[in-house]
Amino acid sequence: MNQEILVFNLGEIDTHLHTRHSCDSDMAPRDACRRALEIGLRALVFTEHVDFDPSDEGFGFYDALAVRDGVEACRREFPGLRVFRGVEVTYQAKFEKQIARFLKTGGYDYSIGSVHMVGDGDISRVERQDEYFAGKSEEEAYRPYFEEARRLAASGLFDAVGHLDLCKKYGHRHYGPMDWRRYAAEIDGILKAAASGGTMVELNTSGLRQDPNDTYPNIGVIKNFLDMNGRVVLGSDAHRAADIGHTFGRYKDSIVTI
Ligand SMILES: [Zn+2]
Ligand SMILES: [Zn+2]
Repeated sequence: MNQEILVFNLGEIDTHLHTRHSCDSDMAPRDACRRALEIGLRALVFTEHVDFDPSDEGFGFYDALAVRDGVEACRREFPGLRVFRGVEVTYQAKFEKQIARFLKTGGYDYSIGSVHMVGDGDISRVERQDEYFAGKSEEEAYRPYFEEARRLAASGLFDAVGHLDLCKKYGHRHYGPMDWRRYAAEIDGILKAAASGGTMVELNTSGLRQDPNDTYPNIGVIKNFLDMNGRVVLGSDAHRAADIGHTFGRYKDSIVTI
């Protein structure tokens, strides 16, 4: 990881966003930068999707050269903003070797590992979520998700665990609000693996714009991670300029005192 990212305080840097270099966004990188400056951020990390599963919507979409050119153009155009080149990798235990090789050779400033796929199921895409959740109880749906997230945290491959508890994004439609305490043992295992390996945990504010109306993960989980002396980062997961830095004001001063 580029250690310069750690210089920025919470609320000064958005560590998770997607531009048109991700399959599910059409935001121009320069629009992201313009918006960041407008709302007083000092730095951004572009974290475009990288997917290793051929059944994944984003498979084969990542274009390393185009991303690099885009980041460099932003650095030239917006000298008052620090722009970092990161990635959000869809973690699947079965692709660990390929992911490790990819990260090692890419020279990225920052990497997020995220669980979007559980087995052959996709929990993050509206068109495919039903196929995963249909016929499963909440626990049958969520426990395998947390098990994959535990492997992610224990892999030590990434700088941060992305949107921990994303299972509730569409799970909410099937089971209503998730009480994370029901999965406290699983979540505790994930946090301990992250803390002991020096992996950060992201407080992702996109869930506040989606059905769960809650951060990923819930703030109670973040509090437990802070109690383990874990390091937390803030990410909006913006796919459009208006969402950059979304609700950061609510967390930037209070997160260390929750
Ligand atoms: Zn994600
Ligand atoms: Zn994302």
